[in-house]
Amino acid sequence: MDLWFTEFQTKNLGMKVRVKETLYMGKSQFQDVAVIDTEQFGRMLVLDGVFQTSIKDEFTYHEMIAHVPMLTHPNPKRVLVIGGGDGGTIREVVKHAALEKAEMVEIDGVVVEVSKQFLPEISEALLNNHPKVELKICDGIQHMKDADGIYDVIIVDCSDPIGPGEGLFTGAFYKDVYKALKPDGLFVQQTESPFFHQELIRYLHKEISALFPVTRMYLSNVPLYPGGMHSFTMGSKKYDPLAIEVPETPFATRYYNKDLHKTCFSLPGFVKDLTGSK
Ligand code: SAM
Repeated sequence: MDLWFTEFQTKNLGMKVRVKETLYMGKSQFQDVAVIDTEQFGRMLVLDGVFQTSIKDEFTYHEMIAHVPMLTHPNPKRVLVIGGGDGGTIREVVKHAALEKAEMVEIDGVVVEVSKQFLPEISEALLNNHPKVELKICDGIQHMKDADGIYDVIIVDCSDPIGPGEGLFTGAFYKDVYKALKPDGLFVQQTESPFFHQELIRYLHKEISALFPVTRMYLSNVPLYPGGMHSFTMGSKKYDPLAIEVPETPFATRYYNKDLHKTCFSLPGFVKDLTGSK
């Protein structure tokens, strides 16, 4: 049988993949969870019908969400990842020698378990119980409320701003992120497509730049996500990724590199307009 899965990226646009096999399909307390094996992208995690990550293109996202902040901060010892249940972001974070402890706060334990079972290449740091990683299954919004001045770097690897991820895209949450960071701390969040989520980007850029003296957006090309062009927003109390001397990358990468560390912040005109930058 010829089976296809369609992600409705907007009301008027879908992305369709040919399915080789459905490996898992279930419902957690928070969302529909599926893993499918596809001809184009290999195995893929799908939450509430939305493509999250795939074996073939995950490096374009996980390297960029992790290494840009981790190599902007000169000494990222204490790190927090919010979301990121597939384990790809924490796998990249633990590559940094300065790291002493990384907490990962994911709301949905089913995403972690399913990823360990069907996406072991992505979830390897969780699968192998990496000694520097502490996994907490709880709400990242609540976790932030109780944290005060302890993190060097916070990475918000969240799903779309609907369902359990909605509160991770609010001014109130960014205030808690600011409070949870050390005086020279910085954070990065995945902030969706600059083409399809313009209202959201305008809003969050306004909220983050009202708090953080350095607020910058950068881009990666993620084939799985709507339009391919995907944005990340950095709020930093001190370090400016464009002003630092970028260190050599001390491990092999497939997308991130030293040149890209600065050039990924070069934005097309319509994206500059969204963020109010010149
Ligand atoms: N790279 C992906 C993307 O942009 O589509 C996101 C990957 S990761 C699978 C997103 C994770 O965020 C999901 O596992 C989801 O359960 C988690 N999440 C959503 N809301 C959360 C919250 N309030 N606290 C902690 N984790 C949350």
